[in-house]
Amino acid sequence: MKLFTDFVPHLLFYGFLLLAALFVLVLLLWVLGLTFSPFVWLTTKLLKTRCPECKGFFKRKLVDSETSDKREVLRTVNRVDHGVLYSNNLLALNHGFEINRQEQVAFVEETFTHTWQCKDPACGHKWQTQEFHGYEGSLDS
Ligand SMILES: [Zn+2]
Repeated sequence: MKLFTDFVPHLLFYGFLLLAALFVLVLLLWVLGLTFSPFVWLTTKLLKTRCPECKGFFKRKLVDSETSDKREVLRTVNRVDHGVLYSNNLLALNHGFEINRQEQVAFVEETFTHTWQCKDPACGHKWQTQEFHGYEGSLDS
């Protein structure tokens, strides 16, 4: 029994230590995430300026941009209708309400093809990237 009573304060101490360590770990991860995300963003931005042939940075130059594909598709979207139920009684409050519903609407899906060229005249490599873009609407209007 003596061993147990000796052990309990230690147990509390270790528990506290563990909690503190966990707290520091979470804090560290949060700070790391905050410092890393702009870094990752910058790296991906920087990598995009790279020429795939000579691997040089800041070599990308836009030559041409064209719509390579444009089609109308149907998508089901969630809509929320807002409304107010006005009460005829002066003392009663008006009630706002929301109705969730699904609706099938026309979407225009566009694909852009960008043509890039390396700024380095010795390389002059050309390559293409594609960008997708979707918005609600119709090709007729
Ligand atoms: Zn190049």
